[in-house]
Amino acid sequence: MTNFEVNLKRIVLGAKAARSVERAALYIQSQLKKRYDCHLEIVRNIPPKGGDIVLGIIGDGTSSAPIFPRSTEEIVLWYDGGKNSPVFALGGSESVIMAVAGKLSRAVQFLSGKMYLPSLSIYEHPAFQVRGHTFANHKQNNTYDKWDWEHWEEYLTEMAAWGNNIAILYPLHPTRWEGSLPFDNPPWFSDPEHEKEFYRQFEIQLKIPQLCHELGMRYGIWIPVNDVFPEEVTRQPEITKYGGTFVCPSIPEARRHINAIREKLFSILPAIDVLFLPSHDDGGCPGCEKCNPWAPVYLDLVKEQYNIVKKYHPNCKVWLSQQGLTSSETRYLAEWLNHEKPEWIEAVAYGPFSEVMTFEDPLSKSEDALLSLEHYEYDGSISGPVNRLRALLPGQYQLILYPDEAHVSDCQYPVMGIDPIVEYVWGREDGPAPRPREMKNLHKYTCGPSNGSIPYSEGNTDDLNKFVWSVLSWNPHQSAEEITYEYAKWFFGSSVAQEAKEMILTIEEVLNNPIYANPMVGKAKELLETCEKQEPSLLENWRWLNLRIGVLMLNYIQQVSTRDRQLRWVLHYRVSAWKSLPDPRSGLHQTINYVEKQFLQTNSLLRDIIWTRDKLFSIQKLNIRGVTKLQNSYAEIDVLLEKWKDVLNQLETGKLRTFPEKHKAIADPVENIENVNKEVYHGISLVEPIQEFSWEKGAAKWRWS
Ligand SMILES: [Zn+2]
Repeated sequence: MTNFEVNLKRIVLGAKAARSVERAALYIQSQLKKRYDCHLEIVRNIPPKGGDIVLGIIGDGTSSAPIFPRSTEEIVLWYDGGKNSPVFALGGSESVIMAVAGKLSRAVQFLSGKMYLPSLSIYEHPAFQVRGHTFANHKQNNTYDKWDWEHWEEYLTEMAAWGNNIAILYPLHPTRWEGSLPFDNPPWFSDPEHEKEFYRQFEIQLKIPQLCHELGMRYGIWIPVNDVFPEEVTRQPEITKYGGTFVCPSIPEARRHINAIREKLFSILPAIDVLFLPSHDDGGCPGCEKCNPWAPVYLDLVKEQYNIVKKYHPNCKVWLSQQGLTSSETRYLAEWLNHEKPEWIEAVAYGPFSEVMTFEDPLSKSEDALLSLEHYEYDGSISGPVNRLRALLPGQYQLILYPDEAHVSDCQYPVMGIDPIVEYVWGREDGPAPRPREMKNLHKYTCGPSNGSIPYSEGNTDDLNKFVWSVLSWNPHQSAEEITYEYAKWFFGSSVAQEAKEMILTIEEVLNNPIYANPMVGKAKELLETCEKQEPSLLENWRWLNLRIGVLMLNYIQQVSTRDRQLRWVLHYRVSAWKSLPDPRSGLHQTINYVEKQFLQTNSLLRDIIWTRDKLFSIQKLNIRGVTKLQNSYAEIDVLLEKWKDVLNQLETGKLRTFPEKHKAIADPVENIENVNKEVYHGISLVEPIQEFSWEKGAAKWRWS
């Protein structure tokens, strides 16, 4: 593609340009300033000339362009390469104008102090009508609830610039606000810190609806149908059955509490376009005879809460889910939709636990046979068949994908090949988890029957995954590699884009494989060093730090697990040389020194990791919690060392007297390190032992001495 040098000077808006168009112009202006130190002036309602970007939507007075969007979500980018030609960047409506600004900004090339654009003659419209993410900003996530306003504004702006047209938030998840009754009159808090933090977050949340609208996005909220503040249950334990803060909707007083919170929340929020009420996760009344089956109770609550929300937001649409419902409950929900056909319900989300599945033989005569997954051809990280939900839903309702894009274990889509130590350190979302190829596959296998997606994010360890879904929601034909390259180029710069892309793909590969002796760990580290040498400013870039810490942590874990294996046999055999001596002090002392010296070898890497973690948190409030699970050993050699120090102390002070006491104190920790990993796998034996001797029952008996 030929690139033409451009001398961009102004962004020309129409006379009636909306706030969203202004936001789009500000985005282009700030990006070109930040990246290329190029200042563009924003002007209105004047005839464009060469070097101008004409930015606008149909009907806002934008100058006539060679081509125009032909539908509300179509966009147009046009530039003929001529010195006197303006660049036209037009959207069919406000919902795509930020996407126009994003695509144009990313198309600009910068080389040796000059800007270039290819000739453009593009009509494009997104493949899916719903394009967004669910920002689970409740207490538990590793980023969002710590964010200041500026973080939200910057992130949501970038999301819109990558084509998203909706954001789902958790302005309030009552069950997570311990020590707080903010809606009481007067409000009550257990201490001033809770009060301060509640209002800090809530004030930000109240401003987000308008921000979303200014970015051309719809604003939706997620809230369970039956949780209340923990303090309410503490004060009135009789309102709950076995669900704790998920109180029993069959108890009228509990229902009053549920509705009072929602009434207050809906009335305070300046706008709600979508009210997403999940069936479970969270929600439900476990163990309650009156509330199970749950689906009828759930739908009653949905109707009640819609009646509350419509008083304040008459155009609000409701989204349901079938998460955690049994197969007969899902049928109940589908039949209710089919029978009632409520127009205020817009969609059903397909999220974690949404697979209506049974263990029935699909060929049996049981009613549940229809819902069997037993012969389904996909398994593992690929979810159950989404097309079955599509088939159940009346055609007027949208099906929205609500996949988990954040977690690596204990979740809907675990990293199947993850190393056990990495799984321990990463937890669910405690380490960076760029998974471009997996996300691409998940999208490929589930997007067909859907109207779009709002993947679940529990903090920014999944940052890249959000961009992968965003791009695929616009154009599902892009490959994971292309999107990763675009991400790397945009956020890290052309000079390192190729290596950064390789590094990201390598991290994904390492996350999906055993870590011991895996050469990909070293490859990722080399790519990291190459990029940082080329572009030292990356150390100020939170997105880079987010990847950097992943590479360093994987490198650390690999070094420790390699050392663990070496130390296990070294200790086992070398300790034998002195542990039987009447006075083992000298040997013990030497061995402690030896192990301590081995541990020192990973110290500088650990310091680098801690520096990266702290820097990342200070810039982005993203807490890589897995760092606290980095240890000197994953075979309890660190535990052994502490025990031996204690033993040495006891020997010095004469507390261990007899040889058997001394021997046991030294030998037991060694045996322990040999057994740690084996114990993990100890279950129920399936095969009877051969009886080797007539006087022995069961397995052959002997022990190490
Ligand atoms: Zn109940």
